[in-house]
Order: sequence, then structure tokens, then C-alpha cells
Amino acid sequence: MLATLRELVEIESPSLEKDPADRCCRFLAGEWLRRKAIVSIISQKHRGDHLRISWFPRTSRPAGQLLVLGHYDTVYPAGTLAKMPFRITTGRAFGPGTFDMKAGIVQALFALQALQLSRIPLLKRIVFLWTSDEEIGSESSRKLLEHEAQRSDAVFVLEPSLGPRGLLKTSRKGVGEAQLLVHGRSSHAGLAPEKGINAIHELAAQIARIEKWNNLRQGVTINSDIVSGGTRANVIAESAQATLDLRAWRAGDMHSLEKRLHSLKPIHRGAKLLITGGFDRPPLERKHSAQLFAQAKSLASQMGLKLSEAAAGGGSDGNFTAALGIPTLDGLGAVGDGAHATHEHILTKSLPERAALLASLLATS
Ligand SMILES: [Zn+2]
Repeated sequence: MLATLRELVEIESPSLEKDPADRCCRFLAGEWLRRKAIVSIISQKHRGDHLRISWFPRTSRPAGQLLVLGHYDTVYPAGTLAKMPFRITTGRAFGPGTFDMKAGIVQALFALQALQLSRIPLLKRIVFLWTSDEEIGSESSRKLLEHEAQRSDAVFVLEPSLGPRGLLKTSRKGVGEAQLLVHGRSSHAGLAPEKGINAIHELAAQIARIEKWNNLRQGVTINSDIVSGGTRANVIAESAQATLDLRAWRAGDMHSLEKRLHSLKPIHRGAKLLITGGFDRPPLERKHSAQLFAQAKSLASQMGLKLSEAAAGGGSDGNFTAALGIPTLDGLGAVGDGAHATHEHILTKSLPERAALLASLLATS
């Protein structure tokens, strides 16, 4: 497993660089082909190609489908390996994308191999979908993964687990981004202040209003992440804008936050507001993962492993599949730390454990 992980990490696969990403996609295709799965490469014009793999032993007809979902793209530009080489030390494997989430893909590959070698009769067809743009919002893969999820009875997401104990992610916040653009009127701040409408003042007043919508207990947050406005000193600002980060645990809270945002009215006379954007990923609510988690927990305990769960403030492609009402279990990937950071690594001991857990989930779901 470590040798495969090394090969996979050493083919860099940045979301924004198609050629290297495609090389990584072809490497993965080869690994699954060698294990006699049916592989199709779904070509993309701008992003790396997506990879769909399906497998079912030829003994009977499948009575449904299970989806194993993940992404092979990473946040690291090509060349990162020079500063951040793959290395194994004291039970950890370091390198770009090890934790998020190439080790998860390796686990899925070996879970399939374990099922094949042990000749466990499967009830359902297994489809593995490895996409190329999760780290940049899944624009080119969303339709594909939603379509595949809709044909599935359950979705297993190989995103990293949480913390040193490898907690599975049974709920995730919905995540969005909105732009608040304020249009005022410029004027000389000294000669004609009465003729100006200060867009920055309007934006500041709106932000003060919006800030009060935060409800940490309920898990609803709205944060101004970027603000800009004005042109120069002496000039009353004609325009100003803010980029807002939106999050919520529940679909109901997501809808009401969006509604509130889009019904904002100007505070200063003559100012105009333009609000765009909203939630990109709906929340993954626990009601869509609880049953699969109970199953995983019981399977893990039969293997002598203790499995716990957690809620995550960030989203993944599991948010899309759960929002369709398809049972989704996320965070089944590696145990480790440092996603998107220079110390990104996985605990090597967890690789076979998590592969076995996935194999047993696939055999019993
Ligand atoms: Zn990820």
C-alpha cells in the first residue's frame, strides 16, 4: 500500500493543471485495470479527466449499486514535491496530498483487491468515482457524481478522517460564498461632501448588520473574508464590496440565511446593493449518515477497532450526495493530519485497517 501511495503522490495532480492531473488519472486507471475492473475515463476540456470504475463478480446480477467517492486532485501546484518530498518516518507517510486524499484512494484500491482475493460474494455493483476538481468546488464533476449517487444505495466518501483517532464525519456544514456589492456616488470629500453617497460607509453598516446573524450555538456563521472599496483619498467612495463566507449545519438554516442576505435593503439613501452567490454545498445532515455509521462501527468492533464520529465545519462532495437523500458516510479515508499544509501526513498503520473497514462495508451494504 505504501509503495502504491508513493507512486500516486509522486505524480503531482494539482486541480488547476490539466496535464499533470491527467497523468495521475491514467496511473489510477492502470491500477484498476490490472485488477480487472471496468474503467472509463471521462474526458474534461479544462480540468483533469474524471475516472469511473465499476466492478462486480460475474457470478450473479447485481441488486443495486454502491458508490465509493473521492478526488485525486490536490491543492499543491506542480513542483511542490521538490520542497515536500514523499517520505516515510516513524510510522507516518508525508507528502502533498497524502492525507487529502490519495491514501484514501489507495485504501479503496486495496479494499477491492481484498474482496477479490477473499471471493466474498457481493450483492451490489461497486462504482468508484475519482474526480479532479473537488478542491476548487467540483464544478466539472458535480453533475457526474450526483448522477452516480442517484443510482446508488449508499455513498462512501474517502475524504480524510478527523483527528488522531480517525473520527468519521457524520455531518458537515453547508458552505457558500456570496458577494455584496455596494454602489454609491463619488464626490469631492471637501468641496461637495453633500453630493456623495459613500459606498464604504454603506458597506460597513451592512456588515455590522450581517455580523449579528451569526449564531455559533446553532452553527450558522457568516463572515466577511475580503473587503475592498474606494479609489483614493479626498474622494467619496463610489463602490465597495465584500466577499462573505456562509455556513450552516441544517438545510433550513441555509435557506433562511440565503433569504435574509438576498433581501437586504440599503441603509443610506441613494445607495444600491447587489448581492450574488449563496450556498455551493448544502449541509450533510446526520440523518443521512447515522445508519451507515452504526454499521461501520459494528464492523470495526468485530475487527477490534474503535470507531467514533465527528461533525466537520468544512464541506466535501459528500454534501452533494447526502443532500439528494442518498445515505452517505464521509471521512472513511486516511488517519493523519495537516491537510493542505507542509506537514501533511498519514499514519501508515491505519492504511490496512481502513481498507479492511471499507471492504467490509462494501460486502455488507
Ligand atoms: Zn479532500
